[in-house]
Amino acid sequence: MKNLAVLGATGSIGDSTLSVCRHNPDLYNVQFLYAAKNVDKMLSLCMEFQPAYVALSDEGSSQQLQTLLQQNNLHSQVLPENEVLTLLASVEIDSVMAAIVGAAGLKTTLAAVYAGKEIFLANKESLVMSGALFIDAVKKYGATLWPVDSEHNAIFQSMSASLQKDIGACDLNGEGVSKILLTGSGGPFLNTPLSEFEFITPEAAIKHPNWSMGPKISIDSATMMNKGLEYIEARWLFNTNKEQLQVIIHPQSVIHSMVQYQDGSVISQMGNADMRIPIAHVMGGERRIKSGAKPFNFFASDNFTFFEPDYDRYPCLNLAIQACYQGQHATTTLNAANEVAVQAFLDKRIKFTEIAVVVEQVLNQLNTQTASTIAELLHIDKEAREHTIQVINRGLIC
Ligand code: NDP
Repeated sequence: MKNLAVLGATGSIGDSTLSVCRHNPDLYNVQFLYAAKNVDKMLSLCMEFQPAYVALSDEGSSQQLQTLLQQNNLHSQVLPENEVLTLLASVEIDSVMAAIVGAAGLKTTLAAVYAGKEIFLANKESLVMSGALFIDAVKKYGATLWPVDSEHNAIFQSMSASLQKDIGACDLNGEGVSKILLTGSGGPFLNTPLSEFEFITPEAAIKHPNWSMGPKISIDSATMMNKGLEYIEARWLFNTNKEQLQVIIHPQSVIHSMVQYQDGSVISQMGNADMRIPIAHVMGGERRIKSGAKPFNFFASDNFTFFEPDYDRYPCLNLAIQACYQGQHATTTLNAANEVAVQAFLDKRIKFTEIAVVVEQVLNQLNTQTASTIAELLHIDKEAREHTIQVINRGLIC
């Protein structure tokens, strides 16, 4: 039985992770639950899973939770924010589900890496922000990295055991891989006329046709910035060059990505759009375990279709691919600017079409810095956020 920490326990990936735990009560002991401010949900999770430790990063919410746990005679210890990293590094945790949304996940994910833990990586933003430094640290500290993102998990499952073992440093050419084919549904606006894009509301953008996800990744899926972040994530996880990585639109979201080999074979992983499938794969490790997901029914499915992305429809995807080859400073800046712009769109302060415009402006204006440490990357992240807020507040979008 492994002791599991679930970071982002109250979110969509947190839900799916805890659902897999319910289906496999003998595999994982839910030892630590961590989120930001959702007191009610955390209380009910504590009632069900009775973790030894729990924490909320928002101080007021943490105090509220403490009171409610006492009133309900629950014995989970509420950790102050500054003790979270110490717990993650301790012998009390074996495996960490890294599922905090956005750059906020970097600190805790890296703490688990530095402590050499088994990491189930959902928080793609931490890899986008810190790329080579993250991958080097995984190797240096002996951490075990499992990709949770459905596409990266599918690619991982479609690879040989020796490539899987070398995650972060895969020799694709040496192992006969010609290309990694990263699939994406195209989101809710795949067939919407471009002339209607500026009128897209947050409510419409949040409704993904195939997946149920948190608000930030849902907007990222609508702009396809999500596929752009995944492109950067794949570049680091599988050590690809530009010729070895391609995005393909597959609206049905049944094939979750593919690996094309030099002999002409293409190996894919398929299934329903249910994050419990990749989560069960990583949590099962060497063996297949129950996920709770329905089996895929081929007779009730649409035809599978595939086509190339249209960058006029998805400028964010193009920006992310360009940033991937500009360097670490560019992907850190892109990620920060996107987080701020997406929040501004959710708050109805900018239009859907302005997300890409804001990100592009920030990238063009802040593209000269270099970064070789996490501290320098955090500085770039902070500066990019401040700059993005200025661009939005001053109405400088042009
Ligand atoms: P949600 O918005 O549903 O959940 C986010 C979680 O992060 C919540 O538990 C939230 O707590 C917590 N959180 C936010 N800020 C902090 C903080 N500063 N400290 C501690 N906890 C914090 O997001 P998703 O579950 O959709 O996504 C999580 C990550 O997984 C993202 O990086 C996303 O890209 C990735 N991912 C998600 C997929 C999906 O299907 N949802 C698929 C593949 C990857 P609270 O509720 O208290 O605010």
